[in-house]
Amino acid sequence: MSKPKIVILGAGYAGMMTTKRLTQKLSPEEAEIVLVNKHNYHYQTTWLHEVAAGTINHNQARTIISDVINPNRVRLIYDTVVKVDKDNQTVILENSELTYDYLVISLGFVTNTFGIKGMDEHAMFIQDIDSAQLIREHIEYQFVKYKNSEEKNTDDLTILVGGAGFTGIEFVGELAEKVPQLCKKYDIERRNVRVINVEAAPSILPMFDKDLVDYAIHSLEQRGIEFRLGTKINECTEEGFIVGEDNELIKAGTIVWTGGVTGSPVLAESGFEITRGKVTVDGDLRAPGEENIFVIGDCAWVMDEKTGRPFPPTAQAAMQHAETCANNVVALLKNAPLENFVFDNKGTVASLGVTDGIATILDGTKLSGKPAATMKKVVDNRALFLIGGLNMFLKKGKIRPF
Ligand code: FAD
Ligand code: NAD
Repeated sequence: MSKPKIVILGAGYAGMMTTKRLTQKLSPEEAEIVLVNKHNYHYQTTWLHEVAAGTINHNQARTIISDVINPNRVRLIYDTVVKVDKDNQTVILENSELTYDYLVISLGFVTNTFGIKGMDEHAMFIQDIDSAQLIREHIEYQFVKYKNSEEKNTDDLTILVGGAGFTGIEFVGELAEKVPQLCKKYDIERRNVRVINVEAAPSILPMFDKDLVDYAIHSLEQRGIEFRLGTKINECTEEGFIVGEDNELIKAGTIVWTGGVTGSPVLAESGFEITRGKVTVDGDLRAPGEENIFVIGDCAWVMDEKTGRPFPPTAQAAMQHAETCANNVVALLKNAPLENFVFDNKGTVASLGVTDGIATILDGTKLSGKPAATMKKVVDNRALFLIGGLNMFLKKGKIRPF
C-alpha cells in the first residue's frame, strides 16, 4: 500500500515549522512529506524592513531550505502554487501538478493596496526578499542620481512611507539609521533628505499604550523622521502621494506602501470561502468543511474565543499554528482526536532601528529603548533556532552586541 502523502505549501514560518515537526513525529515509513516553495530559500519575513532599508544584507535574512530540511526525508519542490483543486486533491503548480492526501496551506501574505488608485503601479512594497531589495537599491540610486545631477532636486531624496502600522514604523526606524550612512557615503547633507511617514489614523501603532507610542514618535522625530498623522492617502502617482481633503501632493523619489496585508491570492483562486482575504479556520485549524486541508499562518483568521476577534497575523502565531497543525495531521493519520489551537501570547515588540524599540511583554511589563531592541533580537534569534537549530542561529543570528 502506498504511503499517505502530506503536502505543505509555502516555506515561511508556518510551513517550515510544520515540516520540521512532521519529520520529528512521523517515521519515513508512515508518510511521504512534500514541501513546495516559490524559491529554494526560506526568508525571515520579520526582517524584511531591514533588508529594504539596507541595514542588513538580504543573504542574512534567507537560508537555503535544503540546509535546514533534509531533502532525503522531505521532497522539496521549488515552484509557484497557482491553485488547489480540492475536488481532485491536486495542487496546480506553474510547472507541474501534485496530488495530496493531507494539505497544509501556509503561503503567507501579500501587500493590500485596498484599490487605492496608482498604488500598485507607483509604490514599492515590503513583501518578500526581491521587493525589499528593490527598495534598498532604489533608495541608493536616488542618492547617486542626486549627487550626479546638475539641478539638485531634493524631492529625489525624499522617502515617503504610507502607513504607520508595525511595518511602516519598523521600516522608518531602520531608515533613521541608514540615511545618515548614505549621506556620509555620498557626501550629501542630512537636512536635504526627508523621510515622511503618512498615516490616516490620528496616531501610530494602535496596539501599544500611549506612553510607548509617544516614546516611539519622539525617538523617531529626534532622528529626523517626519510624521503626517490623520492624513489619508487618496492616490499614488509617479511623483508621490496625494493626501488629505485638499488633495495635497507630497512629492518623493522613493514611495513605499506599508498600509496593510492580506492572505495569499491562491486561497480565493482555489474557491475557499474568504473573509478579508483569508480563510476563517475551525478551532483545529482546518478550513471549514474540509477533512484534510489545514490553513495556517497569515493565510488564516484564527478566532480568539475570548474577544470574538481574530488574533493578529504574526510570526509568533504562525509558528504556534504549525505545532497544532503538525499534531493534528498526525492525529488524522492515526485516527486520534484532533486538538484545538490555543494561542500563547508572549508579547509584542516593535523595533525603532537597530538599538531602539518598544515592547509589551507577557505580564504587561513595558519596555523601551535598548531593552526592547534586545528583546526583539532575542525573539528573532529564537525563531531562527526553532526553525533551523543551532546551525542556522550561529550562521544567521543577530549575535553582535550593540
Ligand atoms: P511567510 O513567512 O510570509 O511565508 C510564506 C512563504 O510562502 C514564503 O516562503 C513565500 O515565498 C511562499 N509563497 C508565497 N506564495 C507562494 C506561491 N504562490 N507558491 C509557492 N510559494 C509561495 N511578526 C512577528 O511575530 N514579529 C515581528 O517582529 C514581525 N515583524 C514583521 C516585519 C515585517 C517587515 C513584516 C512584513 C511582517 C512582520 N511580522 C512579524 C509578521 C510575520 O512576518 C508574518 O505574520 C509571518 O511571516 C507569517 O508567516 P507565514 O509562514 O504565514 O508566511
Ligand atoms: P497594518 O494593517 O498593521 O498597518 C497599516 C497602517 O496603514 C494602519 O495604521 C492604517 O491606518 C494605515 N493605512 C491604511 N490605509 C491608509 C491610507 N489610505 N492612508 C494612510 N494610512 C493608511 O499593516 P502592517 O504594518 O503591514 O502589518 C501587517 C501585519 O504584520 C500586522 O497584523 C502585524 O501584526 C504584523 N507585523 C508585526 C510586526 C511585529 O510584531 N513587530 C512587524 C510587522 C508586521
